[in-house]
Amino acid sequence: MIIVLRSAASEADLALIEEKIRDRGLSAHVSRGVERTIVGVVGDERHIDPEAFEGLDCVEKVLRILSPYKLVSRDFKKDDTVIDVLGQRVGGGSVALFAGPCSVEGKEMMVEIGRRVKEAGAGFLRGGAYKPRTSPYAFQGMGEEGLECLAAAREATGLPVATELMDPRDIEVVARYADVIQIGARNMQNFRLLAEVGKLRKPVILKRGMSATIVEWLMSAEYIASQGNQEIILCERGIRTYETATRNTFDVSAIPVLRTLTHLPIIADPSHAAGKASLVEPLSAAAIAAGADGLMIEVHNQPEKALSDGPQSLRPAAFAAMTERLSRVAAAVGRRLGSS
Ligand code: PEP
Ligand code: MN
Repeated sequence: MIIVLRSAASEADLALIEEKIRDRGLSAHVSRGVERTIVGVVGDERHIDPEAFEGLDCVEKVLRILSPYKLVSRDFKKDDTVIDVLGQRVGGGSVALFAGPCSVEGKEMMVEIGRRVKEAGAGFLRGGAYKPRTSPYAFQGMGEEGLECLAAAREATGLPVATELMDPRDIEVVARYADVIQIGARNMQNFRLLAEVGKLRKPVILKRGMSATIVEWLMSAEYIASQGNQEIILCERGIRTYETATRNTFDVSAIPVLRTLTHLPIIADPSHAAGKASLVEPLSAAAIAAGADGLMIEVHNQPEKALSDGPQSLRPAAFAAMTERLSRVAAAVGRRLGSS
């Protein structure tokens, strides 16, 4: 339920409404717009009674949100959410670039790749230190040492870093180093993990589960938002279909569909969708044309030696040449690519 306050409503009115909400065992999420303050009420639907608020003088109207997701819905917030990370913005008209290797493999390579992707316009450096691998015998990531490499690369380049959190037991150490926390496709419905990152005050990239519907994905975002963290970036990374020519099937339609359903920024990861470096550029172009707020691209200085996802990783020079061409695609749809 959404309570829209009259423009004349005071702070005391707002405090009273928040108290009434809490007394019912519900939680209040206040959003202050330029003209109006609105209060989102979430919790057990059986206790949400619009009549308890409709009669108050300071209340203009009370609206029910019909979708199962509330705080992340467009009904709750009309304006697009723009997330600022160390001066780099995600959302609001530009196409943010997250680039870097699948796995952090060492400090020198992170600094080198960080410098190269920054030159090519990237605003964020990515790299996994805790890796979700299909095989327990495959490289599992460098752990905290990998996080230290990311921090060194941030120091050298000034780029904020994004890295995956797989397990609630690692939240403290990952949050200490990361500027943006990534929740991977395999954990999209790990509800305990989602609730934990919801308690942080740090942006979260929530990747789409490989078999998740758009509504299930938004419900997972709601788990994070309902704990107080509204800085959520949705990332389309391809879904499982019967097609085997690509690693996953890139669901480009998810981008405009989400745009109508949610105020959250939407980025695309064509690398994991394609599974092949040669397909990253056309899928990136499609994502930009469809309105994506950003791209996440795997870049490695020696893809043939990469410890994970080498076949889908671009060399820094290829990444730079691609961003040059993609900036023209972005301009054609009235957007600007990266921080270039
Ligand atoms: C990754 O970003 O390296 C990754 C493991 O992605 P996903 O969770 O989308 O498979
Ligand atoms: Mn990867």
